Amino acid sequence: MKKSVFLGIAAALILSLGTAGAGTVPDNPEPKLSVHYEELTVPDFVRAVERAGGTCIIPLGIIEKHGAHLPLGTDLISARETVRRAAERDYTIVFPPYYFGQIFEARHQPGTLAYSERLIFDVLAETCAELSRNGIKKIILYNGHGGNDSFLTYFCQAQLASAKDYVVYFFTPTANAEDDPEIRKLLKTKLDFHAGERETSEMLAVAPELVRLDQAGADSGADLKRLAALTRAYTGIWWYARFPNHYAGDGSVATAELGRLLVKKTVDELTALIKEVKADTAAAELQKRFFESAGKPVPVKK
Ligand SMILES: [Zn+2]
Repeated sequence: MKKSVFLGIAAALILSLGTAGAGTVPDNPEPKLSVHYEELTVPDFVRAVERAGGTCIIPLGIIEKHGAHLPLGTDLISARETVRRAAERDYTIVFPPYYFGQIFEARHQPGTLAYSERLIFDVLAETCAELSRNGIKKIILYNGHGGNDSFLTYFCQAQLASAKDYVVYFFTPTANAEDDPEIRKLLKTKLDFHAGERETSEMLAVAPELVRLDQAGADSGADLKRLAALTRAYTGIWWYARFPNHYAGDGSVATAELGRLLVKKTVDELTALIKEVKADTAAAELQKRFFESAGKPVPVKK
C-alpha cells in the first residue's frame, strides 16, 4: 500500500469515527460534576459555581471522642455524607473536610483537636471570605457537632459587624427528631446526647465499617448530675459535670434502620433549604441596606 493511500484511508477512518462518535455521544451541555470542591478541576469549578447558583455548603465536623465504639471523626464523616446526599439531589458544592470548631469540653480525652477560640472564628470567617472571592455568595453552614451550636449562631450574628457581599445561612431544621412519630417508634433510649443511640445509628447507616458496636458498653454514658443543685446558671463545666466520659447515652442499641431514617429526614430538610437559598434574594438585599445605614446611622442635616 502506498503511503498516500494509507494516509487517505486512515484520515477517512478517523473522520468517520469522529462523526460516529459525535452521533452516538451527544454533546452533553451538563456533564457530570462532582459535588466535592476538592475533586473539581479549575474549568469544572467555574462550571460548578454557576450550576450551584453561587452556593456552597460547609459541613462542619470535629475531631473528638465518640464513646469507645465510634471514630474520632464521627461528626465529620456523618455530616459530609449527609450533605453529599442533599447536594447530589439539588446541585451545590460541598466544602472540603472541615473540623475546626468548639470542643474545649473534650480536651481531657485522647485525640481531641481543640483549636483556640479566636482561631476557629477566624478560620471560618476567612473561609467564607475566600468562597466569596471565588464567586460563591451564598454559604450554607451545616453543623455536624452539637458543641458548635452557640459558636455558629454567634458567628452568624457577627456577620453584621462589617459589610459583606455574601450571605451566611445556618441550616436549622424545622422538625425535631424527638417529635417525629416515625423516629419515636424506633427509638429505645430517652437519654441520647452524644455517641448514643441516634448518632451510632446514623454511623451504621453511612459508615458501618467504622462502628465497633461491641465496644459501646466499654464506657458509661450515664448522667452523673454533679451540678444538679445549680438550677439557675450556665457554666462551661456543665457537660463535664454530667458526662465526664464524653459519652451521653447508649450506643449499643443502635440500628441501621433508625440511622437510615434519621439521615433521610435530614437530607430532605437540607435539600429543601438548598432550594430556598438558591431562590433567596431578600437576605442579600436586606444586608446591603443594613450595611449602608449602619455606615451612617445619624442623618446629616444639609
Ligand atoms: Zn458527634
